This record gives sequence, C-alpha cells and structure tokens, in this order.
Amino acid sequence: MPTGIWARTCAAILSCAAVGATASIANAACDNKNALGVERVVEVDTTKGPRLGHVQYKDIDFLRPGEVVLTFDDGPSHQTTPKVLEALRAHCTKAIFFMVGRMAVAYPDMVRTVEEAGHTIGSHTWSHKNLARLSSKGAEKEVELGLSAITAALGKPIAPFFRFPYLSDPRRVIADLEARDHAVFSVDVDSYDWKARSTSRMSNNVFSQLEKSGKGIILFHDIQRVTAKGLKSLLDELKRRNFKVVHLVPKTTAATLASYDETAKNLLAKRHVAAANPMTTRSVVWPMSGAIEPSETIARPEGQKTLQPKVASATDASTGVDGSAARSDTSSSRSHRRSPRAAPAARPAPRERPKKTVFEEAFGKF
Ligand SMILES: [Zn+2]
Repeated sequence: MPTGIWARTCAAILSCAAVGATASIANAACDNKNALGVERVVEVDTTKGPRLGHVQYKDIDFLRPGEVVLTFDDGPSHQTTPKVLEALRAHCTKAIFFMVGRMAVAYPDMVRTVEEAGHTIGSHTWSHKNLARLSSKGAEKEVELGLSAITAALGKPIAPFFRFPYLSDPRRVIADLEARDHAVFSVDVDSYDWKARSTSRMSNNVFSQLEKSGKGIILFHDIQRVTAKGLKSLLDELKRRNFKVVHLVPKTTAATLASYDETAKNLLAKRHVAAANPMTTRSVVWPMSGAIEPSETIARPEGQKTLQPKVASATDASTGVDGSAARSDTSSSRSHRRSPRAAPAARPAPRERPKKTVFEEAFGKF
C-alpha cells in the first residue's frame, strides 16, 4: 500500500503509535537469529464487533505489504497442538488460536499451555456446528457455551475474538456478536490444510495466495496432522521470503454469560468426553518471553454498517430448544449482505469439509 493511502487508512481505523520497538521486545528473548519473531503487536478494540479478513470483510485493512497474521482453528488437541506450538516457539512468533469449547473442556491443560506461550486465544463455538443451520437459540448456545467453556478451561478470560465454523456467518449472529463486542475474524489466505495430503501441498496453497495478496490473515488448523508436521518448514519459508508476523491482542477480555458459565463449569468438572476418549497426556510448558506492548490499536471504522438482530421468526420458534431441528438451508458466508428473507442465491461451498473432523472422530457426534 502506498504510504499516503496507508497513512489515511491508519488515521481512520488505527490509533497509530511508534512502530518497531515492539519487534525488538518480542525478539529480545529469542536466540534464533533466523526466527520470524513478531514484527509488531496490534491491539484490537472489539467495541461493536469489528470484522477482519478480506475473504468476507473488506472494511479494515491494517496489514502492510509483506505482513501476515497466523491463526489456528479447531483445537486444542494433545496429538497435534504441541507440535504446532513447538514450531511457533522455534520462530519466536505468536498466533491466534480459535478454540472449540468442547476441545478446550477435554484438554484444559493444553488451553493453558497455549496461553502461557503468549498466544492469543479466541473462540470458535462450542461444538463446531454450522450456525446458519441453527435456530437463534441454538446459535446462541454454540457461541456462548463455547466462550464460557474455553474461559473455564483456561481459568481466566480469553480474547473477544470469534471465528465462525465454515466461515458461515448468519447476519443475526453477527448482530449478536456486535452487541457483545466480539471481533469477527474471517481469513485472507487459506492453507486448506484439512484437505492437503502433504506438507508441500499446504505450503503451496499458502504461498500461491500470498504471491497474489502479498499479505494477509492465514488460516490453519492445529488439529491437522499435516499442519503439525509441516508448520516449521512453512515458517522457515515465510522468513526466507521476508514476510513479517503481526500479532493481534485484544484491548479488553471477553465477558461471559453467567448461565452458560454454570453449564461450562459442570462440563469441565465432568470432563466426560476426555475420560471416555483417553489420548496422549503429553503437555509442554514454555516460559513466557516477557510482556509485549501493542504499538497500534484497530477499531471498528466509523460508518461501518451496524446489523440489527433479527426478530425471532416462526421458523425459529418451531425449532427445538437446542437448535437441532434446524432449517435445511445453508446461508452463504456472505449472507449478512442479503435480506434475511431473500431467497438463497448461489452459495460458495463451505470452506471446511463437513465430514468428520479430528474432534468428531475423537468424541463422536454431539
Ligand atoms: Zn473450524
């Protein structure tokens, strides 16, 4: 982006401070001279739910050419997350982990390990359902129980950062997230690690998109074995190509709802899913590399359209209390741009495969 345009964008959406000092702070404790490190830390003011990631949302453009944000969905898992953390640690760099509540309850030690390593923890619902297929109440449960479960597993508040499963973002849920002051994250670059059968394929997916965009929020899944196996070499290549990592942190933490906290606490106390499906207990704890102060703050741009929560419809009322008797339509990831009553248009395929994920294989249908 030309300097002038960047300056205008910066003035519009960021509270810009001196940039550069953060990188030296982030890298001070790193003894790997070839590490990616953290170029800068950017704070996200989640008031009224800013939306990031140009696949779906184009209002905020905070990355400079050559900058990337690393994000990992669907975990944590004892089987693969430690390896992902190891690769990130080797490069002294930081990421966002959008966790699934049910996984967090199963592996609370892993949640804490991710946080202790200095990464940002956001939420990715309770059980990874497509929210466009749920009633309003069912979607609320997925969002709020997910948040409460991850918070309970960690033992302290997480970031008010949210990513929709399958990037399926019904406007009524976006409106609710705006009201709850949660930032919504889409992506710019998709590793397609869930369908990449080799680490080289995953790497090719990332760099072919980065060659075009030159920057972006990259989507990975820390429950994928190919990601655990191939992340270190992918980070090596990012460094070789002179990409810089931007780490996003929240201005404030996410507030949970008491009613869902109670349920989450009970689920964590039972931990029946983990007990019924014992997996490796390996865990890794790394020392903190020191506090990192953000150099900038992202906020929702003035004038960004605010979505109004949809009034509950007869269809919603007719669904089950748990949302399981959901409508059969699959609203597209861009559904918030259409009238909620508009006939479904041609829809893009879900970005994540609907077949069984690792946690579904581990825990079955829930
Ligand atoms: Zn996911």
